[in-house]
Amino acid sequence: MPIAAKPLRTQPRHESRLSSYRRGYDHHWRAARIQFLRQHPLCVECQSVGIATAATVVDHVTPHRGCYALFWNQSNWQSLCERCHNVKTAHGG
Ligand SMILES: [Zn+2]
Repeated sequence: MPIAAKPLRTQPRHESRLSSYRRGYDHHWRAARIQFLRQHPLCVECQSVGIATAATVVDHVTPHRGCYALFWNQSNWQSLCERCHNVKTAHGG
């Protein structure tokens, strides 16, 4: 799957520290996400209706909206398949 290119934009100087922090955050998230999907390989939404579907997305149950603690709280994570994730995001979550 191709990785989407990030749009180029100029950032104010005070944000440069944040962006390098974010690079680490992305890497950390990628690794954590893979591990979570290994531990929770099935989509919880499909499971709730008795269907076993391989999950490909780690979703935040409560939208983190940039909140670090909520983002990394694994009790706020759930495995979803792409279809269920799309349904959820279409409903504003
Ligand atoms: Zn599903």
